[in-house]
Amino acid sequence: MTWQQYLTEKVLKKCWHEIQTVTKQDKDGEIYTQDICLHCNREFRGNYLLSHRTFTNIQDLHDVYSAVERDGKWAELHEHLIDLWPDLPEEIEKWGAFSLWYQCLNGKPRDFEARCQMVAEWHGWKEESDGQV
Ligand SMILES: [Zn+2]
Repeated sequence: MTWQQYLTEKVLKKCWHEIQTVTKQDKDGEIYTQDICLHCNREFRGNYLLSHRTFTNIQDLHDVYSAVERDGKWAELHEHLIDLWPDLPEEIEKWGAFSLWYQCLNGKPRDFEARCQMVAEWHGWKEESDGQV
């Protein structure tokens, strides 16, 4: 499981859709195909574009932080983030750089991605040792 799939399923509690085309028969004996998700059975019709979250933008990061908060774990995550931050100054007024960092203000896609992956690791995601992620 990739960390993106982990965040989607375990933190955001959404389906990481995997589409399978199945062949069915209607009541008149007509054969037709249907694209459905293997996990949630949602049907995809027409020229749909199956897209998973990329976690490379502020919305995805914000949704991840919000989900952690909804689960009542924000304080725990915040402590973890503080531990990760090197040389946290003792003066509270110098903590601006810390909040800039974890909130990823003015971040680039790779910054959002790094922050999101960090939350996945904190939450329990582990890279599989066989390299198949
Ligand atoms: Zn699904």
